[in-house]
Amino acid sequence: MQILRDIPLASYTTLKVGGPARYFVEAHSETEILEALAYAREHSLEVFVLGGGSNLVVSDAGWHGLVLKISILGIDTVPKDSRLLFTAGAGEDWDTLVARSVEHNCAGIECMSGIPGTVGGTPVQNVGAYGQEVAETITTVRVIDVTSGDTRELSNSECGFLYRTSIFNTSQKGRYIVTRVSYALLPGRAPRFEYADLKRYFASSSSSPTLSQVRNAVREIRASKAMLIAPNEENSRSAGSFFKNPIISPAEYDRIASLPQCVDQNPPRYPAPEGQVKISAGWLVEKAGFHKGFGNGRVGISSKHTLAIVNRGGATAAEIVEFKNRVQQGVFKVFGVQLHPEPVFVGF
Ligand SMILES: Cc1cc2nc3c(=O)[nH]c(=O)nc-3n(C[C@H](O)[C@H](O)[C@H](O)COP(=O)(O)OP(=O)(O)OC[C@H]3O[C@@H](n4cnc5c(N)ncnc54)[C@H](O)[C@@H]3O)c2cc1C
Repeated sequence: MQILRDIPLASYTTLKVGGPARYFVEAHSETEILEALAYAREHSLEVFVLGGGSNLVVSDAGWHGLVLKISILGIDTVPKDSRLLFTAGAGEDWDTLVARSVEHNCAGIECMSGIPGTVGGTPVQNVGAYGQEVAETITTVRVIDVTSGDTRELSNSECGFLYRTSIFNTSQKGRYIVTRVSYALLPGRAPRFEYADLKRYFASSSSSPTLSQVRNAVREIRASKAMLIAPNEENSRSAGSFFKNPIISPAEYDRIASLPQCVDQNPPRYPAPEGQVKISAGWLVEKAGFHKGFGNGRVGISSKHTLAIVNRGGATAAEIVEFKNRVQQGVFKVFGVQLHPEPVFVGF
């Protein structure tokens, strides 16, 4: 295990902002994670676990403790009942795993093609896109319990998955470090393309799309919205969708729908658990006046996606936060709805 000092974090994130980590360790195995945790304990350092940095806003001051980058690699496949179990190291690139599953002609995660970040990041916020989320296929999450140093296999139900939520980002935040994740995928099963954008994409094709055609379509649609990381695409210098879609009561929905801003169009609504309603954060942001390309400084709304706050070059974390506050306040003023950010704020 190598302990580095004063490592700038911006380049480890997709938003490209943030100061240095006082201590930085890249762990390639569970043993190295345990060593790093022991070092942190000995030196009273607070630990932040870093994956691919695609869901982070790191403060300009950086992280005062130890950043532990998880780089455990390896993808194994084992048949299990009628499924193929893919078990991947937490440090594997997520999209590499999706590509591998499609090569094996296995359905279950194809709609999540092109989401940046690592395998270990996926259970944390129950990553999802285009009608799929990882909660549907995860069987177990192997973790190190930071409080005891023990290794455990958590079952799907123990992870408490909900929309963009799990125990890892709520009740047990900071307790577990994910080292491996197993996904049970379906060999030979047709891809899912229920999502409107995908249906539109394949509307004119006479035959049902294959898994790899769905994967390519998702990546193409994502690229058109700069939701695929591309070095020359300024709009992809983001943390993805910056706000979660609010989940509200039907009565609250009716209140919003009766506002003057909604005379021409009711806010798009989607079913949510327990009779609640999910409304589109992007729609609220847009209707509150923050259109695509909004903002004339170093921070603004992506010109290709209303929900992405973009570092147009040289922005600071403080500028990102100031802009985020402005959007939240604007939406609250118009609709009385409090938007909650999706990214994790580090070192604030
Ligand atoms: C262009 C773009 C598009 C995106 N599109 C989507 C999308 O369609 N759907 C979606 O759900 N998300 C999307 N995201 C958000 C992001 O890609 C996901 O949340 C991703 O899973 C984060 O993984 P990461 O490895 O980058 O985690 P990081 O950003 O490094 O960390 C995020 C959180 O997870 C924790 N964490 C990371 N790894 C571990 C681990 N091994 N053990 C314990 N905790 C860990 C961190 O401590 C932190 O709290 C997008 C982001 C971008 C930039």
